[in-house]
Amino acid sequence: MKSFRKELWFNVPTRRAFINITPQVEECLRESGIREGLVLVNAMHITASVFINDDESGLHHDYEVWLEKLAPHEPVSGYRHNVGEDNADAHMKRQVMGREVIVAVTEGRLDFGTWERIFYGEFDGRRRKRVLVKIIGE
Ligand code: ZN
Repeated sequence: MKSFRKELWFNVPTRRAFINITPQVEECLRESGIREGLVLVNAMHITASVFINDDESGLHHDYEVWLEKLAPHEPVSGYRHNVGEDNADAHMKRQVMGREVIVAVTEGRLDFGTWERIFYGEFDGRRRKRVLVKIIGE
């Protein structure tokens, strides 16, 4: 069995953003040479997510509005976690949007369902953060 590991780095200039990282994951798969197996993609920070959904800007706007209703950033003082930091909402947004995804690899390609794409969800940006891509198979 072959295995491949790579870290993807991000430095999002805003506090929150959704980035389609499917092309980077496909590039990792090409580099790995693996044709049949599994790819795991996970955020390596507890205030960022990796998730799969549609690459549609209206939906991403709706996520932003929905997440702000669930865990508003302000007032920062409303969270017990925010002693010396201000990112309690980002921890909660990450919890809702998830840590990782696993995608099947079939005939050298990501075996997606209809309209599925992989996203990095940033909830506490403006610093360097990373995503792990691990691919195993033959
Ligand atoms: Zn924190």
